[in-house]
Amino acid sequence: MSRKVLVVGEVRDGSLRNVSYETIAAGKTVAEGGEVVGVLIGDAVKDLGKDMIQYGADRVAVVEDEKLKSYSSDGFSQALLAVIESEKPDGILIGHTALGKDLAPKVAAKLDAGLISDATAVESAGEHVVFTRPIYSGKAFEKKIITDGIIFATIRPNNISPLEKDESRTGDIETVDAGIKDLRAIIKEVVRKVSEGVDLSEAKVIVSGGRGVKSADGFKPLKELADVLGGAVGASRGACDAGYCDYSLQIGQTGKVVTPDLYIACGISGAIQHLAGMSNSKVIVAINKDPEANIFNVADYGIVGDLFEVVPLLTEEIKKL
Ligand code: FAD
Repeated sequence: MSRKVLVVGEVRDGSLRNVSYETIAAGKTVAEGGEVVGVLIGDAVKDLGKDMIQYGADRVAVVEDEKLKSYSSDGFSQALLAVIESEKPDGILIGHTALGKDLAPKVAAKLDAGLISDATAVESAGEHVVFTRPIYSGKAFEKKIITDGIIFATIRPNNISPLEKDESRTGDIETVDAGIKDLRAIIKEVVRKVSEGVDLSEAKVIVSGGRGVKSADGFKPLKELADVLGGAVGASRGACDAGYCDYSLQIGQTGKVVTPDLYIACGISGAIQHLAGMSNSKVIVAINKDPEANIFNVADYGIVGDLFEVVPLLTEEIKKL
């Protein structure tokens, strides 16, 4: 059953985030041979339409307005609803990012549609599209279908492989006039904390520290290991609460949910709230001096030892490769 599917691209610092390409790949599955229409919303974003097409979108609808320079749920929902009105899609997919988590429920409510959030896999099965999503803090997975109306879902980053970029692909990039008006809040300026290196939510490798790192300086060997692996540094809430690092690094139920290819947990006990944010990582390595630590129950590889000895050794060995 072929469908028309809208895939919302997410722009950060003038480029599309990886999750946009992953969501296009999910859109192809939902479309089942139908049309995937990329959607770009922002101030000057039209040039990125070409990227969406090269990663698999058939064409792109763009809503540009200087009032959309920064994300606001009011402005972006008006823009997306205008595209939905003109395209009348069978499905809508958005990345399960801070933006997607805010925009998707708002738009779904306006459309009186159901929403499957945080999908980690998509497959077509007969007349339905089946979405897999984690439940109970990642302890189990459920499969969900939407039986009636628009198929609306958010896609967790780092779970669905993007399609190969094909520079020969072409498609129309059209502007939709959304007539953005009556915004209740105008964002004048965004003051962003400058974070060094790789973006945690998109990192393929994360080296995470817990209360076991004992101080802010204790994160230095973790940062060195992350650097040689081209990864990012994360943390448990224990480490954040202790003031060893910024809360923007927190992974878990009340922090970021990450699914890197490799997650190295250093001095983290493995509380359920932490596992909720990382247990779906592809390979988990745990370094802890307590052999009974719960983190070993989810780890693929466990090293019982002092992280201040083990982490520098790992860094040195990896440097030799
Ligand atoms: P600890 O539990 O103190 O563990 C430290 C570990 O380090 C121990 O296992 C110890 O053996 C090991 N260690 C010590 N020294 C060394 C060394 N030199 N070498 C190797 N190992 C060493 N937590 C999160 O992480 N993320 C969340 O989002 C989150 N949300 C929460 C939400 C709620 C509502 C609640 C109630 C709690 C939440 N928590 C969250 C907190 C969670 O319950 C734990 O308290 C927290 O994860 C513990 O952090 P930790 O593992 O770093 O510290």
